[in-house]
Amino acid sequence: MPRGVIWKSKYGDNNCSNNMMSNKRRQIGYAYSPEYTKLADLLPSNIGRASLVDDLIRSHDLIAQCDDIISPCFASKDQLTAYHDSKFISYLLNEEDVTYSDSEDESDGSAHSSLPNEDVDRRLQERFGLEFDCPEFDGLDKYIQAISGTTIACARYLTSRNANNDKQQVAINWHGGRHHARKDKCSGFCYVNDIVLGILELRKRFETVMYIDLDLHHGDGVETAFAYSNKVLTLSVHRYDRGFFPGSGNSKFCGKGRGQNYTINVGLRAGLNDTSLRRILRDVIRPAFERFQPGAVVLQCGADGLARDPTKEWNLSIRGLSSVILDIIDFGKPTLVVGGGGYNHLDAARLWCLVLGELLVGKEVTEKWDMIPEGSNFIHKYVDDGYAYFPDEVRRIDDLNLKDDFLDRVVECTNVQIAKIDPVLAYYRESIFLKQNINAQTFYTLTHTTNMHQ
Ligand SMILES: [Zn+2]
Repeated sequence: MPRGVIWKSKYGDNNCSNNMMSNKRRQIGYAYSPEYTKLADLLPSNIGRASLVDDLIRSHDLIAQCDDIISPCFASKDQLTAYHDSKFISYLLNEEDVTYSDSEDESDGSAHSSLPNEDVDRRLQERFGLEFDCPEFDGLDKYIQAISGTTIACARYLTSRNANNDKQQVAINWHGGRHHARKDKCSGFCYVNDIVLGILELRKRFETVMYIDLDLHHGDGVETAFAYSNKVLTLSVHRYDRGFFPGSGNSKFCGKGRGQNYTINVGLRAGLNDTSLRRILRDVIRPAFERFQPGAVVLQCGADGLARDPTKEWNLSIRGLSSVILDIIDFGKPTLVVGGGGYNHLDAARLWCLVLGELLVGKEVTEKWDMIPEGSNFIHKYVDDGYAYFPDEVRRIDDLNLKDDFLDRVVECTNVQIAKIDPVLAYYRESIFLKQNINAQTFYTLTHTTNMHQ
């Protein structure tokens, strides 16, 4: 894969391939190359998933229908260290100069260890989180560069928007979305945080970004990166309980310092169904979006909340989760869409292919999807479901969020917080101030004076 090539438009800058294209209100870029799929397949928690996803998309002829194919590329060390710790990245990239110190002070860069080599390596693995659910593997260096470089390329697809293009741009990297990775540590099947790197890239053009995380697990890595920021609002909808990974995401945590109220946590119980998720969209996600008025949106679409995921926590249907994802994209902002968890690989492929299908060919077409296409190279894997695209998936279990008014209380708690997001600041940042060319102090005084008289 090349470094630096961002995307190839099939149609040139201004031309459309047919009349239908010119009527479309969106421009969809999908990150794809066969080499990229192979590298993404290496993730130990999801071996081979990327191939299933891209095969299902290809067998529906969707790759050919994307407005643009975003060429995956490798992130440079400089790009990775825009967020991550340099020593951590050096270790992941197999650079030879990474040392371990058994003293606390490594500030002079001349750290030495009296430990034998194998112990040094073990200590470094421990320090950087390369153990348990994040084992080292052959090709790890290329894998992290490819996933991150591709999410950054997707962000650039959005930031390079032509001013005359009034279509909403959407860039999709289903193999990104590694939301648990920390600045200097791997965590929860996530080695580097491509989402944080993508948001930092978007911030070069968009003053404010809203991050929405629909994965079963709390988006802790992204939240931590922006906990002090009032320019990146993070909103995570997740299963929360004592002992449930990663253990964070209590609805009471709402950010720190200047970032207070710009972190929203919707911590939920087991059994979440489609109706409850739609309510969260209506009563939490949309109000937060409307209050914050971000310049761009980043959406993590983890598939582990689906009913047949082996985690067996939530009870979402493929169509139910897809419709919420589509409605968020429909907010109309430039949107970077990434994947995430999802351990029933066939259902993750079904979900992500359906989302792309609805964006490209519309609901009228996807509603007729019935069977897995015969052209799929993996059709034999769908035999247990009779090759059905939409198997009987939802379990007959209670949504525990509906007991004791729990969901009502969660919504109420987030609404109190959303009301504290400063809309004056948000509007000022994004549009009015820029259009009217007045200075910030004047704008603030004007709007606050108006408020006082109301
Ligand atoms: Zn997850």
